[in-house]
Amino acid sequence: KGPDPDLVAIAERMATVKHKILVLSGKGGVGKSTFSAQLSFALSAMDFQVGLLDIDICGPSIPKMLGLEGQEIHQSNLGWSPVYVESNLGVMSIGFMLPHPDEAVIWRGPRKNGIIKQFLKDVYWGELDFLVVDAPPGTSDEHISIVQFLQATGIDGAIIVTTPQQVSLIDVRKEVSFCKKVGLEVLGVVENMSGLCQQLSDFKFSRVTETGECTDVTEWVMEYMRQRAPEMLNLLACSDVFDSSAGGAAKMCNDMGVPFLGKVPLDPQLCKAAEEGRSCFADNKSGVSTLALKKIIEKF
Ligand code: ADP
Repeated sequence: KGPDPDLVAIAERMATVKHKILVLSGKGGVGKSTFSAQLSFALSAMDFQVGLLDIDICGPSIPKMLGLEGQEIHQSNLGWSPVYVESNLGVMSIGFMLPHPDEAVIWRGPRKNGIIKQFLKDVYWGELDFLVVDAPPGTSDEHISIVQFLQATGIDGAIIVTTPQQVSLIDVRKEVSFCKKVGLEVLGVVENMSGLCQQLSDFKFSRVTETGECTDVTEWVMEYMRQRAPEMLNLLACSDVFDSSAGGAAKMCNDMGVPFLGKVPLDPQLCKAAEEGRSCFADNKSGVSTLALKKIIEKF
């Protein structure tokens, strides 16, 4: 029996890709796609040639986060062409193939594996410094497929995104042991939504009466500060939204012997950038999350 022709085709395609990074999370909604998107933006701003492959088949949010909603994939004689944000940032997602963004993808394992295989062997990326792969949450068929397909051609490893809560960290432990089992290096863990950080002037204030009535007093507080201490308006107010007394992701990394990459706070500016499909690094008025993300990316 000769070599699997699909694996040969994938190896040929991937021969022009220097680094392959898988972005994983134990749960949905922890900011994995946001991280994949901003990592790709940052690497392309550093003049690397970057490809972002979204294999979150049931919830492809990458097209929106890259400002590419409604775009379609084109076929050339070299294969499927990614959709380009910049000449050095190409994106491929199942989201580009759905007739309508509200369309649900209800596929069983084999069909999902089929499309992942097709993405890997039929997309013409050209020369890439980095291929960032945004995986679905958890450890399912798609993960086993992508790891198996990419391992045949060499994969750098995985970055795992989590939030600080125990419920999320429990699943990350599973993710780490999945990586260990399949022989995938854990490049590191990012703790996202690690506290809330925003300018005091962006907060809303209310007064709660003894009867539980709530009145908005934001204007009153702002006016007070403008009059008495205008410099306070620029203060950054941070709060530990989630209970991190158990040590959060840093402690888990220590326990499991994997690198901890850093914390990114909940930051309305990052959320806005993701909603608007743009890079949070493009803004001069960098938020705290941008600085935190920069530090993490510089570690590569
Ligand atoms: P996942 O890919 O893990 O399902 P997403 O990346 O889609 O999660 O993020 C879920 C939502 O949370 C998105 O609306 C995103 O903009 C927002 N979000 C993620 N990280 C942050 C953050 N650090 N600050 C503010 N909003 C965030």
